[in-house]
Amino acid sequence: RQTVVLITGCSSGIGLKLAIHLANDTKKQFYVIATMRNLNKKEQLEAAAGDTLNKTLHIRQLDVCSDESVTECLNSIQDKRVDILVNNAGIGKIGPIESLSIREMKSIFDTNFFGAVRIIKAVLPDMKRRRSGHIVMMSSVMGLQGVIFNDVYAASKFAMEGFCESLAVQLLKFNIYVSMIEPGPVNTEFEMKLMDEVSHSTFPGTDSETVQFFKDVYLPASRDIFATMGQTPDTIAEATIKVIKMERPVFRYQTNILYTPLTAMKYADDTGNMSIRMFYNLLFNHGTCFKISLSCLRIVTCSWFRSGAVSPN
Ligand code: NAD
Repeated sequence: RQTVVLITGCSSGIGLKLAIHLANDTKKQFYVIATMRNLNKKEQLEAAAGDTLNKTLHIRQLDVCSDESVTECLNSIQDKRVDILVNNAGIGKIGPIESLSIREMKSIFDTNFFGAVRIIKAVLPDMKRRRSGHIVMMSSVMGLQGVIFNDVYAASKFAMEGFCESLAVQLLKFNIYVSMIEPGPVNTEFEMKLMDEVSHSTFPGTDSETVQFFKDVYLPASRDIFATMGQTPDTIAEATIKVIKMERPVFRYQTNILYTPLTAMKYADDTGNMSIRMFYNLLFNHGTCFKISLSCLRIVTCSWFRSGAVSPN
């Protein structure tokens, strides 16, 4: 029997690549339900699917923000059976919080957090009854470490991490695994959408010093990071499949080794001051971009690991 994998947000980026990679599995072990909010955007996926379309890859409509859409999609699946759920749909937001309305902030949570929770709630009873299943979340390193001007996005991913960390323990009792895939920057439409949004904003309500720092320091540094350290969506798809195929899937999987120091800092200093001050000093006292700060962090944590001060396991 094929393993039924339902993926959200497959019209572009990581979701699209993951659907294609799984559908092309040489042993044809996956029956992929590649879902998207708007079926008018299915051309790219259809073209990439080639011969797998309607064989190992099936396209369905699913808006993670709609109860009706989730119910309708699950009802269209044979026995409503989902063996592996990949909560990939997500939206980003960058910029000074003074210029973001609460409504805008809530919409990030509606998609990134409640969207994922909505589908988990819908598939869980059946997974529990069968005592098998795997819930895979497309989280982020920003689910573990906040990053300047990504306040609300990071909060939505933190929320997902806290939710899943709690749920994972209960679900293990039912032989259901939960895994968080935690990429650093990935070169998809995601970043372009973010840049596009801020290029049209005047940042109302934000002081000029903050706006200037955001535009003149953060944005160029962020572009540079995506260009130099960004991974491809294919790499994230492969990493996700590695986790999917594990006999006992891990709870956390960071895809970009350059980013592991970001999170290791937290565990090395439980006051939290080390990471906050390190970022502060690197950004504001030396005007250095994130890339250099990450390289420094990497050297620091590698030496911790080597000295045995911090264990990578
Ligand atoms: P993307 O913008 O190409 O993909 C996101 C997808 O989610 C899009 O297809 C979009 O249409 C879909 N989506 C948004 N709202 C939806 C809704 N209500 N219902 C259904 N689908 C919806 O970007 P991506 O980089 O492929 O992002 C995929 C996931 O990876 C996101 O959860 C994102 O937070 C996460 N992630 C991305 C990066 C990055 O740098 N690109 C890094 C870490 C994590």
